[in-house]
Amino acid sequence: MRKKVIAGNWKMNKVLAEAEQFVQEVVKTDPTDQDVEAIVCAPFPFLVPLVEQTKNTSVKIAAQNMHFAENGAFTGEVSPVMLKDLGVTHVVIGHSERREHFAETDETVNKKTHAAFDHELTPIVCVGETLDQREANETMNHIEKQIRAGLKDLTEEQITKTIVAYEPIWAIGTGKTASSSDANEVCQHIRTVIEKLSSKETANQVVIQYGGSVKPANVDELLAQSDIDGALVGGASLEAESFIQLVEAGK
Ligand code: PGA
Repeated sequence: MRKKVIAGNWKMNKVLAEAEQFVQEVVKTDPTDQDVEAIVCAPFPFLVPLVEQTKNTSVKIAAQNMHFAENGAFTGEVSPVMLKDLGVTHVVIGHSERREHFAETDETVNKKTHAAFDHELTPIVCVGETLDQREANETMNHIEKQIRAGLKDLTEEQITKTIVAYEPIWAIGTGKTASSSDANEVCQHIRTVIEKLSSKETANQVVIQYGGSVKPANVDELLAQSDIDGALVGGASLEAESFIQLVEAGK
């Protein structure tokens, strides 16, 4: 049985006091158990205090991005070595906002995914189609291309540990959720593509999240699908109460 993994992606929101207050509430409630994991994807300046706050708890702290290089002349960037050193456990890679606004490509996604594993960070690799692609019936081909390129040359062991987040771009922050059966269909397709890259056994172990306007009101139906193993949540992860409900839905 695959674990459910609920990740809250705060994006560029909150100030430090709000971030700490949120994590304090989540840690106090501890909505996780052996079936469900909770990850907070926080902006870089909050990582140190949040890692400290979650020490000896079951809540994990993720970065929302990183560079693929270990160090060097990359002004303004943060390396996987730095994240690992801080105690960060996960990193979001290739979110559609990074692809759209910061020119990330399948190639940089692949480099960052390798860099994450080189430094014992778990990558949450994001894929998803635009509305135009969906309407042109290109979703499955586009997702296959993103998965093949993003996970290129990973070992089977690394693929097993990768978290994939399927986030249709038209559903992010729009209040429009893919129907749970449409979302599941794409997640199944992702698993089939991963099977071609590795093996059935490996593909069956990969955690595949859905993301795009997930909220307490729709999370149960999404998580009840055969191939949706969790959620990557933006807007509804900003309030501790709603994030806790989302995590509890994974039990
Ligand atoms: P949303 O964002 O839940 O606000 O749609 C999801 C995401 O971008 O990860």
